Amino acid sequence: MLSSQPMNLNTIQQIRELLANPKKIAVVPHRNPDGDAYGSALALYHYLKKNGHEVHVVSPNEAPEYLKWLPGADQIVIFENDTARATALLEDAEVVFTLDFNALHRVGKNMQEVLERITPFYILIDHHPEPEEFADIIFHDDKVSSTCQMIYRFFDRIGVLHQINRSMATCLYTGIMTDTGSFRFSSTTGETHRIAAELLDKGIDHSRIHDRIYENTYKRIQLLGRALSNLKLIRKYRTAYITLSNDELRKFDYKKGDTEGFVNYALSLKDVVLAAIFIEDEQQGIIKISFRSKGRFSVNELARKHFNGGGHINAAGGRTELSLKETVEYFKKILPEYEEKIIKNA
Ligand code: 5GP
Ligand code: MN
Repeated sequence: MLSSQPMNLNTIQQIRELLANPKKIAVVPHRNPDGDAYGSALALYHYLKKNGHEVHVVSPNEAPEYLKWLPGADQIVIFENDTARATALLEDAEVVFTLDFNALHRVGKNMQEVLERITPFYILIDHHPEPEEFADIIFHDDKVSSTCQMIYRFFDRIGVLHQINRSMATCLYTGIMTDTGSFRFSSTTGETHRIAAELLDKGIDHSRIHDRIYENTYKRIQLLGRALSNLKLIRKYRTAYITLSNDELRKFDYKKGDTEGFVNYALSLKDVVLAAIFIEDEQQGIIKISFRSKGRFSVNELARKHFNGGGHINAAGGRTELSLKETVEYFKKILPEYEEKIIKNA
């Protein structure tokens, strides 16, 4: 590792020199990309392309429908669908940017194997805690709202803010908006709003961006109805959780991304500090879990210790290979271990 945040002058110089002449570059977001992963990858893609590089975004798998309108999204190479081409692009790349993840396993097993085998110059830009040290340059700050905010900082450090155009601003705004729950979460700072203001001044249609990200299908609203009717509250532990079984997902014609944000309804309950949603994934044979918390109670710790996952202090994810029922039972069984922290940190 040559540098950690803040980037020192040598690192900035090194990046400037690296990008001073055309390079073959791959930009890699995490598996199951969200608005921040795609937004940051595409903003960087547009910048690099504008500056004469041969650049491709290589995504481990497809994004949900609500992100496919992002400028440049139609150019993204999907590793899972187009493995030979994606592998060749990664093998050819002189520079690989990894965005919005802190550990190589977050790209999925097959793509991880490729990333571990190749030896490009790696630049990691991220806001998750404790990044693995696989990169040559690590530009990282876990107090920052989003990787898009980090990309804006990155453009600032290398002196190219004036190059941000409407497409790049649209991508960056999307990632900041989605990762901050539309500027509501505690990770939102003055800097976040100042950047948002600069992006608005680039002529983006923020209202339209919001509509495109949050517009619903009828089926999704029905699925939300089912999720809410499954909501359980455990007052003693200030905990609320939602389950969705595979049958329920099928009944409401589940599409990737449909359950995004559902867990926040559990967290919005008065006095609740810890919220979870357990979603059966028949295809992968796992239960995928999203955790959210308020205050200083760390769901990152809980997800790491018990659910094979991680994330941030107030938003984390994990998985089990148990049944849905067993997973919920296990979750309830470990709650007493956290009683003190839940009450104290609320
Ligand atoms: P979400 O619940 O929205 O899927 O994820 C919340 C946060 O936790 C995101 O920042 C995401 O990167 C992280 N996260 C989700 N699932 C996992 C996981 O399985 N492992 C790790 N390390 N982080 C995860
Ligand atoms: Mn993010």
